[in-house]
Amino acid sequence: MMPLLEVEGLRVAYGKIEAVKGISFGVEAGEVVTLIGTNGAGKTTTLRTLSGLLKPLAGKITFDGQVLNGVPAHKIVAMGLAHSPEGRRIFPRLSIEENLALGAFLRKDTAAVDGDLQRVYELFPILSERRAQAAGTLSGGEQQMLAMGRALMSRPKLLMLDEPSMGLSPIMMQKIMSTIAELKAGGTTILLVEQNAQAALSLADHGHVMEIGRISLSGTGQELMHDESVRKAYLGED
Ligand code: ATP
Repeated sequence: MMPLLEVEGLRVAYGKIEAVKGISFGVEAGEVVTLIGTNGAGKTTTLRTLSGLLKPLAGKITFDGQVLNGVPAHKIVAMGLAHSPEGRRIFPRLSIEENLALGAFLRKDTAAVDGDLQRVYELFPILSERRAQAAGTLSGGEQQMLAMGRALMSRPKLLMLDEPSMGLSPIMMQKIMSTIAELKAGGTTILLVEQNAQAALSLADHGHVMEIGRISLSGTGQELMHDESVRKAYLGED
């Protein structure tokens, strides 16, 4: 069976600078796959390309049996690929509920949208309590929850999360990570980009280490967590 997402020989450049230099990987339905690696490795560029925000130089992206190359970003969302971007990008002046509603703007199944809104509120009770409040008043961790909630409102087949733990306190980070585990348990397929390799690998079925635009090592989350070079470079051991 074909994976839900298949990336083959993907190359992406900003002008003359090639940020992604030919990567291949897949995500099976129901899996959590993580891309780890240092700043500038090309992880965000990869997610932005999968979302249709950047045009690849070369390579093929197949999602749910359809080629994504050349498909505009809004159609990609409608096909079921949602992106919770780095830095969150919520709308600070809109209320929490309005931000969440925007995540569903392409959907016409209103009754199901209401059900999904309730599900997001169950996942993140704090968002429910503050639903009428301007999103800009939320803490960093709460804004991260809102960004994840908004991505879930498109009822994605694949949820892409870019650095959900960035800038969060250890407690908030744990909350976000346990929510990702909960989503996985509920069958959501997730592509997770993280600087926090320990947290990401402990959740992931498969992982790929990115270094300056290439995948240098791949394995199951457990394999990578126990790999000596990964431990030295990313898990702070010597
Ligand atoms: P980070 O965690 O810092 O986001 P990353 O692995 O996601 O790291 P990218 O953001 O994809 O890495 O960046 C990959 C490379 O592309 C880096 O060398 C970066 O400087 C470069 N780059 C990223 N965005 C742009 C841009 N808009 N214009 C030019 N170069 C860029």
